[in-house]
Amino acid sequence: MFPFGFGFFDPTMILLVPSIILAMYAQARVRSTFMKYLRVNSKKGYTGYQVARFILDNNGMRDVPVEMTRGQLSDHYDPRRRAVRLSNETYHGHSIASISVAAHETGHAIQHANGYIPLSFRNAIFPVASFGSSAAWIFIIFGLIMSMPSLLDLGILLFSAAVLFQIVTLPVEFNASSRAIELLDEGGFIVSDEREHSRKVLNAAALTYVAAMATAISQLARLLLIRGRRRN
Ligand SMILES: [Zn+2]
Repeated sequence: MFPFGFGFFDPTMILLVPSIILAMYAQARVRSTFMKYLRVNSKKGYTGYQVARFILDNNGMRDVPVEMTRGQLSDHYDPRRRAVRLSNETYHGHSIASISVAAHETGHAIQHANGYIPLSFRNAIFPVASFGSSAAWIFIIFGLIMSMPSLLDLGILLFSAAVLFQIVTLPVEFNASSRAIELLDEGGFIVSDEREHSRKVLNAAALTYVAAMATAISQLARLLLIRGRRRN
């Protein structure tokens, strides 16, 4: 993947194997769980849009728009525009998957409005983390090729910002999902046995964030190992 081995097999790559397997498993599971619950219509029959709009209005956020966005599983909350964006399937759909995702994204909007600390922290480090995740490799590769430890260290420091971002993402995501279940319950959008189905959808999505964090941490561990070997 990266020229750390300079043409030879780099044994530190083994560190990445568990997280790669976890990431592949998480991707497969999120797809299959979504496909399953996209076909299960919620008993009350509200659409994702209706659920999001009702929850926002009910929480004094009439000014937060619910917009449609392209692509599959592209649903998100945009903290800069203060907008909830739902994919076509979520926006128009009235399946368990659609309303669960809609409530989850609305959960992020409520976190933002309430000044939920992990989200504020995540938004604050986002610029450094997004720069770090792409620029880090340039410093790391040049640091290794030119044998300049300070460049390598700078690269590792930048990459650490990206790792920190992945770690802070976890409480933000888990909190939005637990809020979502409560909001669906309180709003009367789901009946008792649907609570468990909704949780399955949101847990599958959360696993992809756990996998992303595990991948980032094992990459960092690998970089530190390479750094240590270079020093000796
Ligand atoms: Zn989320």
